[in-house]
Amino acid sequence: MTAVLELIEARKVYPGTPPVESLRGVTLTVHSGELVAVAGPSGSGKTTLLNLAAGLDRPSSGSVRITGHPVEKLRDRQLSGVRAHRLGVVFQQFFLLERLSAAENVATGLLYRGVPAAVRRRAARAALDRVGLSHRTDFPAAHLSGGERQRVAIARALVGRPAVVLADEPTGNLDSATGAGIIALLTELNADGVTIVVITHDDRVAAAMRRRVDLHDGQVVHDSGGAS
Ligand code: ADP
Ligand code: MG
Repeated sequence: MTAVLELIEARKVYPGTPPVESLRGVTLTVHSGELVAVAGPSGSGKTTLLNLAAGLDRPSSGSVRITGHPVEKLRDRQLSGVRAHRLGVVFQQFFLLERLSAAENVATGLLYRGVPAAVRRRAARAALDRVGLSHRTDFPAAHLSGGERQRVAIARALVGRPAVVLADEPTGNLDSATGAGIIALLTELNADGVTIVVITHDDRVAAAMRRRVDLHDGQVVHDSGGAS
């Protein structure tokens, strides 16, 4: 089985007096096909872990490998390439471009890949179909509900067929019924073969995932275990 994401004794120290050790030696492997929750209370290091796993930041020591590429050894440009081709990221705040249509927002997920515009449009429609939004393709993002906006963000993450989708508190800005719909969608996509890591402080969200990793004070304190 292919490891899509590996953290090996990953540490992150933020300088200061005193320095804050936000991740204290995290070792974690996610294989292709998994659906994993990384859970923990506020301040446990979840966002730090996401930033490392998404290649948005580099570890102070240890290794973070995205589909085998060690981020601490890559130049910025190489890392951007790995991110554009291997990762999809979904944020709590959606980050849609308000004036663009749902399909145009999704197509931006392919911008850094040199895909021709017509192909981007077709792929965007297919991705919107996968998240149940075929009927909203040409709606401006500003006119969509919260749940619909998060579906567009998920479609944007999926459109490039990444090796892994990372979702940071994907239900954090949604009411519980809408959030449950998003979790059901992520579960469905995983059943279809998409590898997904969900970062959450919400126990109900974590309980819905096949594998659960608990963080506390920057360390993994429990891992229900992946297929390895
Ligand atoms: P979580 O997302 O689980 O709430 P974070 O990863 O945001 O946790 O933070 C973990 C710890 O690292 C906290 O103590 C936080 O205050 C600290 N921290 C996070 N980012 C920074 C930063 N840029 N500079 C200094 N300390 C930080
Ligand atoms: Mg956080």
